[in-house]
Amino acid sequence: MARILGAVCRKCRREGMKLFLKGSRCNTDRCAFQRRQTPPGMHGLQSRRNKMTDYGIHLREKQKVKIFYGVLEKQFRKYFDMADRAKGNTGTNLMSILECRLDNVIYRLGFGASRAQSRQLISHGHILVNGHRVNIASYLVRPGDAISLKNKKKIIEMVKATIQETGTNIPEFLVRTEGDIPQGVMLRKPVPEDVSIIVQPQLIVELCSK
Ligand code: SF4
Repeated sequence: MARILGAVCRKCRREGMKLFLKGSRCNTDRCAFQRRQTPPGMHGLQSRRNKMTDYGIHLREKQKVKIFYGVLEKQFRKYFDMADRAKGNTGTNLMSILECRLDNVIYRLGFGASRAQSRQLISHGHILVNGHRVNIASYLVRPGDAISLKNKKKIIEMVKATIQETGTNIPEFLVRTEGDIPQGVMLRKPVPEDVSIIVQPQLIVELCSK
């Protein structure tokens, strides 16, 4: 499974915003971005940022989204083509597709402390979609799909502990039930209000359409 490598907190500082890549640590005062908001590097990236070109502004917006959702360029292009072909606003479609990724859905249901941890749960075969094991993090969840866990005590306990830690802030397009085995259902397609990153999708559309 291809993944974004490198020191993740640097990526938050580079993009000038919290990208929530480290799980529960991101919500504590141990968050590196909270302590130091200057861009990484020894010399004046800040001053370079002030002089950013139009292309640079568009590119940073795209990179921000790719890092946030843990998507590499090839896959991102695929999503853009899908969004472009679909009816409606391309930027809105793109963000909706990204929100439908299984790793994102697992994270937003609170089953994983971060998208990276959610990807691990999926690739290790602990996640079921409509009762079938799915081990592909980029699987696109559809409205009506039910997400649950394999009946494995250790994993269920781990997920329950994560749910306790992450709280009850579930987006409106999802619903979670907490019985013996935590479950979730996608109620509808995500809309712009459900997107959890502040971004200008139009800038990404302009960049990718060139
Ligand atoms: Fe970003 Fe802070 Fe999380 Fe590090 S701890 S990934 S800086 S939000």
